[in-house]
Amino acid sequence: MGSAVGGRYGRCMRAYRAGPVVVATLVLSTACGGAAPAAYQATPTVSPLREPLAGKVVVIDPGHNGGNAAHPEEINRQVDIINGRKACNTTGTETDDGYTEHAFTWDVANDLKPMLEKLGAKVVLTRPDDKGVGPCVTERAAIGNEARADAVVSIHGDGAAPGGHGFHVIMPGLLPGHNDDVIKPSRRLGRAIRDAFRAGTGLPYATYTARNGLQTRTDLGGLNLSKRPAVFIECGNMRNDGDAAKMSDAAFRKRMATSLAAGLRRYLN
Ligand SMILES: [Zn+2]
Repeated sequence: MGSAVGGRYGRCMRAYRAGPVVVATLVLSTACGGAAPAAYQATPTVSPLREPLAGKVVVIDPGHNGGNAAHPEEINRQVDIINGRKACNTTGTETDDGYTEHAFTWDVANDLKPMLEKLGAKVVLTRPDDKGVGPCVTERAAIGNEARADAVVSIHGDGAAPGGHGFHVIMPGLLPGHNDDVIKPSRRLGRAIRDAFRAGTGLPYATYTARNGLQTRTDLGGLNLSKRPAVFIECGNMRNDGDAAKMSDAAFRKRMATSLAAGLRRYLN
């Protein structure tokens, strides 16, 4: 009998030492251990498993916007992208059937956002809906910088010649004195997303541009101005019939989002 009491006491002590991780056990154990410290009794229930992306901030930048085409004067305004000037934003492309790039990027972004949130990440989108104008590439980059994003992903669909198909990921090139610190992590992010997107969607690397699905560019304001690890992904060629069919399919877009989440998770861990 003495050993049974001792054993029970031992369990109580372990429970207290483990702290808030085993709140349910503590509530039961007050009977055998006598007075549990007040601090333990007052501890609210917390999840015993830390979410894999807890504490991480991801900025998702859905390319273009639904109101851009109707506001050329705002969209064509030239903005400074460090090594040149460029339009504030563009209208983007669309499939032959009229599924627009801004709608595609908005749809994928909104599939991806809850997936990342479920993993514990804080997610910030660079635009609140698909009906607005802009924001300019300068503002999009500033949103990632101000959020101190651990990763920024700009989602696009390409408007290349119809014969080309497949996806590619674009990483920032070095602009000395401006983005030195983010070149290496952006390459890691780019490779993680490239690998996950290839594995998760089965889409080939772009047949018409980039190399093994990866490209470095210094003419994109969103990348040039980012002080955080950032990449673009051209998820497919919307002018190609095969890619367009996949990009227009809601179930396939979910696969794309799942693949992006997997790539981000791998990079952020
Ligand atoms: Zn685009």
